[in-house]
Amino acid sequence: MTEEKIVRTYIYPCFPNKEKINKVEQVLKEYRKTAQAISKIQWAEFFKTGKFNKYLKLKELESSLSERYKQSCQWQVVGILEGYLSCVQEEFEEIIYNTNLTQKTKRVLIAINSRKAWFSKTLETIYWFEKGNRIEYKVSKEELLLARTIFKHILNKRRKPSFKNISMHLDSKVAIVEENQKSRNYDKWLKISTLEKGKPILIPLKNNTYAEGVEGKFLNFYQVQVEDGKLSVRLIKEIRRKEYRPIVPEIAIDLGLNPLFATDRGDLIGRSFLEFLINLDEKITRRMAHLQKAGIRPSQDKKYRELVRKLREFLKNEINRYLNRLIETYRPASIVIERLDFRGQELSKRMNRLLSRFGKRIVNEKLKSLQDLYGIEIEQVNPAYSSQECSSCGYIDKRNRKSTQEFKCKACGKKINAQVNSARNLLSRRSTEEIKLYTPKKQVLKILTKRYLERLKGCNSAPLEVLKNNPYFKDFLNPGVWINVYKWGNYPILGSR
Ligand SMILES: [Zn+2]
Repeated sequence: MTEEKIVRTYIYPCFPNKEKINKVEQVLKEYRKTAQAISKIQWAEFFKTGKFNKYLKLKELESSLSERYKQSCQWQVVGILEGYLSCVQEEFEEIIYNTNLTQKTKRVLIAINSRKAWFSKTLETIYWFEKGNRIEYKVSKEELLLARTIFKHILNKRRKPSFKNISMHLDSKVAIVEENQKSRNYDKWLKISTLEKGKPILIPLKNNTYAEGVEGKFLNFYQVQVEDGKLSVRLIKEIRRKEYRPIVPEIAIDLGLNPLFATDRGDLIGRSFLEFLINLDEKITRRMAHLQKAGIRPSQDKKYRELVRKLREFLKNEINRYLNRLIETYRPASIVIERLDFRGQELSKRMNRLLSRFGKRIVNEKLKSLQDLYGIEIEQVNPAYSSQECSSCGYIDKRNRKSTQEFKCKACGKKINAQVNSARNLLSRRSTEEIKLYTPKKQVLKILTKRYLERLKGCNSAPLEVLKNNPYFKDFLNPGVWINVYKWGNYPILGSR
């Protein structure tokens, strides 16, 4: 069995005096400068070899940090750059999804992207799984070039990590935590090297009782930050995988804002979510207006940063809490979820941007950790038109969705919560052969409308008047194409030949 590695960070109350804070701050300043220099070296390495390398020699690099500090710093820089790359990967997928390229080219580009192989020199054969079969494919030069062009395009657009405000992630080369046996006032010491050789300082810590109680093992790895004159210390723990016996094969989750989650089983979870966001949105918007007047960049404003932090914490807490509850309730073997997109008409543009930036990442991280912790399989499906399709009869119509919460089918009359309806559609998408994750929206619509018409050969159908006014069915209603209209009782119905 492979060993699972899940790590969590926990903040520990710390009590340094002013002098110690100053010393750590001096290190931090130099550390950030060094990180920026290392980042430059790493990017050069990336474009040359296709990879970042956390083992590069840094002897030549000028810095008042010790060699050990530099190495520690390099590990962190590479970690952050890898994180940045995974955001680029996400955006890459998004772009590919929205192009008119063929299914095959999309598959190839996505495979190159998921292997981070844009600049690889050795890439020849790639493979992917389709309905359980391993498919091998030789990548052409043109495809690789295309992937590279798209990658560069994203890189030019996206701001790279600046390392100007990072905290320090220190390993045992430069910092260590020891139990305090002498004094009763504190539980631990953080011993941390400074810019003066051989003169480490000790920072007293108190235990985080929650973290101490979590089953697992502390790593010799610490996060240290000085912000607005305050020092903070975080310890890191590796947690063991939990025993998990699934009860149901799957649940499907629709992601929204009000409520946050709905399941195919009818759960509506996180109903006060939107209210909180609207509230916070108002505050952020007001603060922004103030900053704009004063000509201050939001990133330089403490209050603005605090509001954004509050948003992130809120999202993290809510998403984690609710997903945990769902797992506890159903114990699914797999979770079916759409390709994510958080957005709400009730919110400002800025808030929507913040949401899509944090929300997606937090949900993804949480799902990843559920996968790690419990071995729950996560399946993404194509969400196109899932909010307009009736999960009961399959009729698809913009007018089916009366509001963000109400769904009433124009054809069969089914009334249901709109998000629960979507979740049910997501579940059935999983077994719809023709609709793949990257099938373009237009094509999804064609498949859905066609399927609806085929299904109801000779059965009750939407009244013709309803269909007539539905632009989605325009092509099919064109007389003589492939549809005949019959009179059947009092209702005109449709049938396919
Ligand atoms: Zn219906």
